[in-house]
Amino acid sequence: MMLGSMMHQPLLISSLIRHAAKYHGDTAIISRETSGELNTTDWAGIEDGARRLAASLGKLGLKQGDRIGTIAWNNHRHLKIWFAVSGGGMVCHTLNPRLHPEQLIFIVNDAADRAIFFDKTFMPLITGTRQHLKTVEHFIYMGAPDDEVAAAVPGVLFFDDLVADDTGYDWPELDETAPCSLCYTSGTTGNPKGVLYNNRSTMIHTMAISLPDALSLSATETVLPVVPMFHANAWGIPYAAAMTGARLVMPGPGLDGDSLLGLIDSQQVTLALGVPTIWQMLLTAAAKSGSKMASLKRNVIGGSAAAPSMIATFRDKYNCETIHAWGMTETSPLGTANQIKAKHLALDPAAMAKQRLGQGRPPFGIELRIVDDEGKVLANDGKAEGALQVRGHWVVDSYFGKSANTLTDDGWFDTGDVSTIDADGYMVIRDRTKDIIKSGGEWISSVDLEGIAVEHPGIAMAAAIGARHPKWDERPVIVAVRAEGANPSEAEIIDLFKGRVASWQVPDAVVFTDAIPLNGTGKMLKNQLRDKFGEVLIERGASA
Ligand code: AMP
Repeated sequence: MMLGSMMHQPLLISSLIRHAAKYHGDTAIISRETSGELNTTDWAGIEDGARRLAASLGKLGLKQGDRIGTIAWNNHRHLKIWFAVSGGGMVCHTLNPRLHPEQLIFIVNDAADRAIFFDKTFMPLITGTRQHLKTVEHFIYMGAPDDEVAAAVPGVLFFDDLVADDTGYDWPELDETAPCSLCYTSGTTGNPKGVLYNNRSTMIHTMAISLPDALSLSATETVLPVVPMFHANAWGIPYAAAMTGARLVMPGPGLDGDSLLGLIDSQQVTLALGVPTIWQMLLTAAAKSGSKMASLKRNVIGGSAAAPSMIATFRDKYNCETIHAWGMTETSPLGTANQIKAKHLALDPAAMAKQRLGQGRPPFGIELRIVDDEGKVLANDGKAEGALQVRGHWVVDSYFGKSANTLTDDGWFDTGDVSTIDADGYMVIRDRTKDIIKSGGEWISSVDLEGIAVEHPGIAMAAAIGARHPKWDERPVIVAVRAEGANPSEAEIIDLFKGRVASWQVPDAVVFTDAIPLNGTGKMLKNQLRDKFGEVLIERGASA
């Protein structure tokens, strides 16, 4: 067999941080410490710290393939850990601190983590669970030696000690299919499942998301990943920033609207990424303070559907272009991003706004299809709704520790989402399969109803659920949280839907509540809402 005659260099995470240090060494990395202060380092500093740390982890006896957990905010130490662990051939296992401790224990044991790094905020989580974390030999505090921490966590090691010396360590040559990181799904039912990424899949994903028609990273951008490093790899941003030499601003624990607004304005952030609940808080803070967020040119919204009114507010009030994106832990995560094509350039503003609402189209490396209940592939006509399936270079094959693959017989991954796809590949999420509202056999998209409900200025957050109905099986009900100081009536909210959706899709009721429960990555826990409000129509006397 004849082979090509080009150099073979494995695609390794270590090459990212090497590149960033060599060609963007003086580009700043700003992060908020757990104490609240701002820390400034640069890509050279991140690489130096990562290399020193990788050497120390080796001395602790940690070997290639070992899983190393982190329970941490987005900050400079966490970045160094990412590159040290993955670059050093170990597996960086980001843990979601918002999980119930029982789930956290399950995940650490399932992954058999040998060490765990933690920020000070999460010390109680460590002291409360460590007796159950059977495989963990080292707890490493992300900071300087600290007596309080030493007393609370006997045997603890300190990050700053581990990076004190430079021993001339160099990044190892690995096979590009060696694993590099591990992330568990934030499943709302059943035990979470691990997705084990490898160097190659991560590197190809990084190149793809950096492209102009994906998230468009570059050395001229200042990027604020609000999305946590434990949520699907912060959507790949730390890697893409290293690849492109972008300036990074890491928010640490300050995820409230005022803190984020302060960072955006003081650090002149040009691109920020996060889930809708984050943007809701930011918009409230900006409206209060009067800030125009002048530096912010683009934001990426994903994780849950972005309401049309939110995209419009960013565009019309803040001159900020929203890139609506879709993905999953199982897809590294980027699956689609809403970027236009040449043929859309001439659209009038209203048509352009409509074009930008959906979740967008796949970059090279991802293929999408929709299928019906029997698995028959449906048309890409923008109308047919079906189960969304995906395959590609950075899509899971099997879950961590499970031998069987998790794919369809013909090799696709079923996402659990319901969507449409048009002839150009633009995908619109209609719902999660389990959240779609089934009224008399017809489907109603809860995503559509939520998007309309939150247009009302008196509504801070809204979920549409299927409530039990004696005649129609299910009918839509809006569960809403009022905005601070507002008091909208049920009738006012119902009126919003009239003429906007088919009459049979207009919700039957609106119930107000103080808060909508969210999971660890900011998604509304609709199963809990169904438990609480699923009988409201029966209670109100609905009859057949
Ligand atoms: P996770 O793995 O926790 O990120 O969850 C992935 C799921 O989040 C997807 O399967 C979707 O149901 C949902 N999701 C992600 N992005 C979007 C989006 N832009 N619009 C609607 N749902 C989304």
